Amino acid sequence: MAVTTKQFRNFIGGEWVDAASGETFESLSPATGELIGTFPKSGPEDVERAVAAAKEAFEEWRLLPAPKRGELLFRFGRLVQEEKDDLADLMTREMGKVKAEAGGDVQEAIDMSFYMGGEGRRLFGHTTPSELPDKFQMSVRMPIGVVGVITPWNFPIAIPSWKIAPALVCGNTVVFKPATDTPLLGERFVELLVEAGVPAGVVNVVHGGGGAVGDALVRHPDVPVITLTGSRETGVTVMRNAADNLKRVHLELGGKNAIVVMDDADLDLAVEGIVWSAFGTSGQRCTAASRIVVHRKVYGELQSKLVAAAERLRLGPGWEADTDVGPVINRSALEKIHSYSEIGSGEGAKLLTGGEVATGNGLDQGFFYRPTIFGDVEPEMRIAQEEIFGPTTALIPVDDFDEAIRVANGIRFGLSSSIYTRDVNRAFRAMRDLQTGITYVNAGTTGAEVHLPFGGTKETGNGHREAGQAALDVFTEWKSIYVDYSGRLQKAQIDV
Ligand code: NAD
Repeated sequence: MAVTTKQFRNFIGGEWVDAASGETFESLSPATGELIGTFPKSGPEDVERAVAAAKEAFEEWRLLPAPKRGELLFRFGRLVQEEKDDLADLMTREMGKVKAEAGGDVQEAIDMSFYMGGEGRRLFGHTTPSELPDKFQMSVRMPIGVVGVITPWNFPIAIPSWKIAPALVCGNTVVFKPATDTPLLGERFVELLVEAGVPAGVVNVVHGGGGAVGDALVRHPDVPVITLTGSRETGVTVMRNAADNLKRVHLELGGKNAIVVMDDADLDLAVEGIVWSAFGTSGQRCTAASRIVVHRKVYGELQSKLVAAAERLRLGPGWEADTDVGPVINRSALEKIHSYSEIGSGEGAKLLTGGEVATGNGLDQGFFYRPTIFGDVEPEMRIAQEEIFGPTTALIPVDDFDEAIRVANGIRFGLSSSIYTRDVNRAFRAMRDLQTGITYVNAGTTGAEVHLPFGGTKETGNGHREAGQAALDVFTEWKSIYVDYSGRLQKAQIDV
């Protein structure tokens, strides 16, 4: 299972090449500090070459029939399927999540490739009747051009697939910048696309930082679409910098997701859902449950069951079979997470468990943080408002359903939400009133399927959606076409 450490390269115009500067950076395992690989530290010059290659390739790729583009995605999906176990092993090492979750991450890419492969035979537009005789009209989806794909490290195979698969099937070409914490997984993703037969220039990968590579893509006049998943702060910067060229910008940003537990809930089921949603992927999911809004009648019982369950979780490297919670991504994440434990205690919240860096049994080699639960949290506290992106969650007591909905909605983000209740009327009111892009009933806040839209309201994004049919709107431009077969001048929108 050892990863062969070597020097990796960018992929531009069908060739593996070093950064123009010759500089490199390293990818290290967050569990052990082991060197995973060395990657080109690219800059604007490399982006320039990749965009030129993608622009040139666009002219042929857009004319390849969409079902053929879809067939390439089917081949890619099958290759990912064959490599699933190895990719999941690599993910436990490079990103840190536990093996079962890593397998789920890879599975999303398989599902998305097959789903978008099928889109090659649909890509539906509309036909409508005309208001004039002997006239036909329709709307069709047109590809846009070069798409700049900028991804985070937390779903290092799934998220690239959510962007690259629909971009390609719609007839666009891609310049992909993976996160600097997970470059090898980004690299493997592109290698499999190449193996599936993607023509030179259609997909290019440029490794490097957000400032040097991401920003050069965002500002490049020949990149009309930018799709970014990342933090709110990065989203704001990207939107601002893309404004000069009036680009289409697709943003999937942070979350501060709430699980509401009502007094009629199945508490054991709720505890399982909370543990999975708050501490799975070490709390580093955009859909992680970092607020638990609990009816006072069941608050005490839920709190003690939850704390006991959190204390049973075993920390360790993601590749060990009995590990429940892996490391967090890097030292600065560890420090940020710990700073929020100090902020929470300083604000007067009650630290119920965790609140410290985990050490002993080899954990000191990596970045491990104890699952952390704060009780008696007020909705306005910083630990209840700001995205921590670690294994920390906050219990907020409320008196009734209306207050629960108010507290859940009292936040700048709007990605995911959940309610545990056995009352069907409350469940339907919650589905209507929770201001998030995704709502779960009697399940945690995580676990999307690729054929439904994924994304958030408010400051979690800018109104676009990933996955499902909705993703096609990011990567296509609508064109309306009118065909007059009357053989005479007919004037639409003119009073005659
Ligand atoms: P990040 O914002 O630090 O980085 C995301 C990507 O943007 C990286 O590739 C980074 O190099 C790049 N980048 C940084 N600055 C840039 C700039 N000025 N111009 C262009 N690119 C730039 O986020 P992260 O730490 O990698 O990921 C965690 C964040 O992602 C969390 O906030 C999480 O909620 C969010 N996220 C959201 C979703 C979603 O679907 N809503 C999914 C996963 C993660």
